[in-house]
Amino acid sequence: MDKYLFMDLDDTTFQTVRKCRDNENLCPAAFARDGSPLSFMTAGQKELFTFLDSGMTIIPTTARNLSSFNRVNLRFNHCVILNFGGVILTPQREPDPEWLKRMRVHSERVSMRLKNVFSDLQDFVRKESLTTSVRIISDFGMDYYLVAKNTDKRVENIDYIYNNFFIDYKLEDCYVHHNDNNLCIIPRYLNKRCAVEYVIDKYISTDSKSFITMGMGDSNSDLSFMSVCDYMIVPSCSQIVKTRRFQ
Ligand SMILES: [Mg+2]
Repeated sequence: MDKYLFMDLDDTTFQTVRKCRDNENLCPAAFARDGSPLSFMTAGQKELFTFLDSGMTIIPTTARNLSSFNRVNLRFNHCVILNFGGVILTPQREPDPEWLKRMRVHSERVSMRLKNVFSDLQDFVRKESLTTSVRIISDFGMDYYLVAKNTDKRVENIDYIYNNFFIDYKLEDCYVHHNDNNLCIIPRYLNKRCAVEYVIDKYISTDSKSFITMGMGDSNSDLSFMSVCDYMIVPSCSQIVKTRRFQ
């Protein structure tokens, strides 16, 4: 039986040094634009990745766009899901044209909305003198989502934005993904779950007579794509675990 693992990357497979539980034997896993190591795997994470990779096909399922995915120091051999599901790369590393066409229609519909949120949030950051960068993440000529991060890693500034700016802000056709120093405003059409279903339908069920799927992620927003898989894998130090009580 073939086994497929849809795997979130940041804070699931690797993370910044600040979030590493064990700081010994860290292995650089993703790099900044200037080539400096930005995210790391612990020895345990590396061991787990090697073990999983030897027994199943891993499909990265990430918010990263193509440029930041290309700075990940791991090799994958099947499809890749980028931009919260906005882009699906085929095993030959071409964007799936049918999916891209579908996303382009949606992206054009909400593009102005995203630009307005971007402008309003920048005004708020300036007015409140926060050290927060606000960017629209784009790929293949499309605006996908907005991300706010604190450049000096002060998570409280991101929490402040979440609790004050977005409390009364009418997001309408967008939703908020908030995890640690990472705040994203994502149009509702964009979600990893739809992309995972599409990949299973078009690239897995056509190739495999029998298969099982697993979803691995750390954020509450990952639960949606993980729930369409047969099994879920969750790191114990994840947002998913922290926001749930276990008896
Ligand atoms: Mg994650």
